[in-house]
Amino acid sequence: MANYFQEKLIAAGRLMFEKRLTDMCGGNISIRDGDTVYMSPRFSGQSYHWNLSAEALVVGKWAEDDMTKDAHFSREGWSHLYIYRNFPDVQAVVHAHPFHVMPFAAYGLPIEPVLESTQKFGVIKHCEAAPAHTQDLGHHVVAALQGLEDKMRKQAAAVIIPFHGIILAGQDFDKTLDALERIDENAYCLTVRKSLLG
Ligand SMILES: [Zn+2]
Repeated sequence: MANYFQEKLIAAGRLMFEKRLTDMCGGNISIRDGDTVYMSPRFSGQSYHWNLSAEALVVGKWAEDDMTKDAHFSREGWSHLYIYRNFPDVQAVVHAHPFHVMPFAAYGLPIEPVLESTQKFGVIKHCEAAPAHTQDLGHHVVAALQGLEDKMRKQAAAVIIPFHGIILAGQDFDKTLDALERIDENAYCLTVRKSLLG
């Protein structure tokens, strides 16, 4: 039987994949329960097609490195652990490869808010580049999130990972997931701006 936190993650993975907010290549979601963190496993997209079960999730203490030795630990999970260690109020971390955000990640473009629903995120910027799956990337993500604590409290703070995707941190899992879709829609609006307005 999946507990509340596991159910949240499983449902979110399916939803993100269905809505093209992440892909088969990757993404990684986690939720914090006190000193414990539940996290999607490696190959959540490629092997599981985001059809996760409670047994497939990786669980451990966010303050320790033990869960990183689990064979199913996603190496993208380092960023999550570093976020929990540096921002004690964060309860949820969502890393994804959203369809409409990917061009902004690819070309180094910030995402300026053009919808009322995204004003609260401010201009979403890139962190310093580092190869995927490295602990260096985790440090760069934390550095880029510094100073965005007010956004985490409001809904979520977001950072674009160069050539890769996006990562969000928030105090509430559902609100953080909601932020992901808002930002993806905002990215779509930016993408079609020229074709609509000339
Ligand atoms: Zn990724």
